[in-house]
Amino acid sequence: METLDEAIQNARARYLSANPASMAAHKDAERYLPGGNTRAVLHYEPFPLTMIAGQGAELVDLDGHRYVDFVGEFSAGLFGHSNETIKLAIHDALDKGIVLGAPNSYERELAGILCERFPTIQQIRFCNSGTEANILALSTARAVTGRRKLLVFNGAYHGSVLKFPTGNSTFNVPFDFLIAEYNDIEGTAEVIRQARDELAAVLVEPVLGAGGNIPGDKQFLEMLKCSTREVGALLIFDEVKTGRLGPRGVQGLVDIQPDMTTLGKFIGGGLPLGAFGGKAEIMARFNPKLQGFLSHAGTFNNNVCSMAAGCAAVGQVFTPERAAEFLRRSEAYRSSLNEMLSRKMVPMCCSGLGSLMTVHFSKQPIQKPVEKSAVSRSLNTLLHVELLLHGVLICSRGDLYLSLPMTDEQLSKAYVALEEFVDRHEPLIARVL
Ligand code: PLP
Repeated sequence: METLDEAIQNARARYLSANPASMAAHKDAERYLPGGNTRAVLHYEPFPLTMIAGQGAELVDLDGHRYVDFVGEFSAGLFGHSNETIKLAIHDALDKGIVLGAPNSYERELAGILCERFPTIQQIRFCNSGTEANILALSTARAVTGRRKLLVFNGAYHGSVLKFPTGNSTFNVPFDFLIAEYNDIEGTAEVIRQARDELAAVLVEPVLGAGGNIPGDKQFLEMLKCSTREVGALLIFDEVKTGRLGPRGVQGLVDIQPDMTTLGKFIGGGLPLGAFGGKAEIMARFNPKLQGFLSHAGTFNNNVCSMAAGCAAVGQVFTPERAAEFLRRSEAYRSSLNEMLSRKMVPMCCSGLGSLMTVHFSKQPIQKPVEKSAVSRSLNTLLHVELLLHGVLICSRGDLYLSLPMTDEQLSKAYVALEEFVDRHEPLIARVL
């Protein structure tokens, strides 16, 4: 009987012989990029595929294979690879001047679109990434409250120097972090009570993304709202990914009003963009007409291409109605995957909310992040390679991100590939898990 390691080796052997051009490109990249890589999450063994083109929800790699793209640029690729409205907006902006170096019309328009869309964001400021947005929101909380401590959660990812897979990391920004368990109401309330007047803010993803797309319980998020209010700390929702869930992000779905919100990924229509905003009295601290204002700089904060793409993407394409419809369609798809997995009685499930989802190998329902065992990591590896070989591109850690141009046929291609994976490997999964 084939072992898990043998199954992985077998799949990798097929992968190697199918992708000689990507392998050569990877070897070449290794000369100047450490490990051939400039973005950790995109690395997988034996080498990642090099993509050369995208159209709609499809990608083409260097060896000429076509894939349905469920990586979806980790949710920033909401609009797919060739949305005409967004392309037109970018071309138009380019024609009018690439670097204006002054306030431009797009930033005014985009600020209005986002503040109208997310009512808790009364005023907003732009930056270039979700990482930056979160660092700036945390720094704002420290400046506004005059306090130092910041509460985050195990399993959270708020950016390249704000990651807490299991506790803090030496690569993180040197802020004074407290770390609690996601969805643990009692434990977290106690940490907040203990920190009291030293606590500047709680930063939380309303769906824990990189930690396995685990939705925050409404009661948990409500507790955060009450507890932060009690101790005078700010509640910051990181909606960099989840802002695309429904017309007003998860805060709209659960009807909870954070003091500040951070945004990124999809709001730039595929170009780099981050934003942070919130209550007018907090954001007023950035007003340069006031004495002692917080001087937030950034050469590309209002760069015309991202601004123009964002206006088209959020203003014209991803309207509140479209967002609501996309949430319904995606949630129905996720349910269909879960129904298939439970019908086959395989210890797998697809956690998440709407278009953000993760396939887990687990006998238990996934309610909080758990450190993956070596076996479930290996099963994820096997799933990833097998789906690639079926022309379905998912994230190597098991995430799937749907995009607007995905057709029913493309969704069904992933459904069938997952079903075939289960049919082929169910005895192995049952044996090792
Ligand atoms: N916050 C969340 C929830 C994210 O998932 C990410 C990126 O994956 C970030 C922040 C950081 O965004 P960026 O990669 O644009 O810096």
